[in-house]
Amino acid sequence: MLFFRLARILKEALFPSKCMGCGSFFHPSRDAAQRNNSSAKAYEWETMTFEKVMAPFLCSDCLCNFLPVESPLCSVCGFVFKSREGNDHICGNCIEHPKRFGKARALGIYDKTLMEVVHSFKYKEKLQLARPLEELLFSVFVRNWNIDDFDLVVPVPLHVKRFRKRGFNQAYLLVRDWPGIAVKFKSGNFDIGQDALCRTAWTEPQTGLGRKKRMENIKGAFSVGDESKVNGKRVLLVDDVYTTGATVDECAKAILGGGAVSVDVLTLARAV
Ligand SMILES: [Zn+2]
Ligand SMILES: [Zn+2]
Repeated sequence: MLFFRLARILKEALFPSKCMGCGSFFHPSRDAAQRNNSSAKAYEWETMTFEKVMAPFLCSDCLCNFLPVESPLCSVCGFVFKSREGNDHICGNCIEHPKRFGKARALGIYDKTLMEVVHSFKYKEKLQLARPLEELLFSVFVRNWNIDDFDLVVPVPLHVKRFRKRGFNQAYLLVRDWPGIAVKFKSGNFDIGQDALCRTAWTEPQTGLGRKKRMENIKGAFSVGDESKVNGKRVLLVDDVYTTGATVDECAKAILGGGAVSVDVLTLARAV
């Protein structure tokens, strides 16, 4: 055992890890090293934390700069209220513009560490982040819903042109192993509807656009190819970031139009 301990200490000294948040070199904690070796051991899904799961990938500063989504928030869109007091309630935006989906929830706020992590994953192809993010997202799913209430999990699709350029759909990679995770969790019996929804219209990136422009830009961009895939189903829609909700609401419109019973939304990050 002493040999293994020395070997590990030597390895860490010689080969520090590069932080996927800020790019600096760091030495993962011992807990993180252990987690990496025995990945996906009987987890406590309800109490899983970002800090624990991401420790092998992020330096301690970046781990500290993660901002979780916490109540009080909008009971519909999941908007995190500035005031840290009071209960969840519906926000002004959801009253003014009713949503087609039931409720939307997210792991963390789209800022600082989580923003960097999403960028590394999506644009720098750090695909080793897929599995830990997938586990964290599943833990948010378990905490906010009864997962037995769902028949189908649909990742928000990319347009085929963007898919070819990027080579992967980040939303799909966030749910790909969920059926296996659900078996370990001993609950949930849903399918992954990777091609349940198609992005039929090419849209320019939504970045930098306001809510109204985003809605116009994305209108009619999605369609359900084969309605039998969604008809009568209770659907969870998954994406990396919820910004104004225009994209997921447009997806919900297409899925409900195909005969789905309900659509809820889960994302990694929530813009505020
Ligand atoms: Zn860092
Ligand atoms: Zn709201």
